[in-house]
Amino acid sequence: MNEKTNVKEELEALVNKNDKKAVVLMTYNTVEGFKPGIYGDGRLIVYSWDKKLRSEKCKEAAKDITDKFYKDFNLRRDGNLFEHIFVYAGMNAMDEAISAARMIGHDLKDYENLGKKVTMVGCDCDYNKKARIAHDSYSVSLIQCECGGDVTMGKIAKAILEGKDPKTIKSYGK
Ligand SMILES: [Zn+2]
Repeated sequence: MNEKTNVKEELEALVNKNDKKAVVLMTYNTVEGFKPGIYGDGRLIVYSWDKKLRSEKCKEAAKDITDKFYKDFNLRRDGNLFEHIFVYAGMNAMDEAISAARMIGHDLKDYENLGKKVTMVGCDCDYNKKARIAHDSYSVSLIQCECGGDVTMGKIAKAILEGKDPKTIKSYGK
């Protein structure tokens, strides 16, 4: 190993060993019950912030999280490692989160034509805008969550680890 913590190599080895692609959870907030990292023998990878941030920090945090994901993986080459991506889109960094979801959806689409592989997890704030984006996109869908999204993201993480198909995950209440 030339690098001490190479996320890509670690995930790639697990995905190949288990023949099961990974599901990504990405948020500039926290994921309840989960810290950033790899879970379930490579089935789940969490890109999150480790604590709740003040609203004015969220835009930067959203960009940092997306940058980190793109630094760890080259989606045009490594897209075959991923089955599905969930991106939290709240109010404080809504545009950043939406662009991340669309960019990831775009970069993944060349791999397999299996429909929408990116799900925005959006709170009520400016929901119509999120719904419009999802409606117009061939790669991004939308489910609903509470403001902050950490509870819903935590439920999604658990569901994935319990073997639920990410495409069948709908809104968890509100
Ligand atoms: Zn909200």
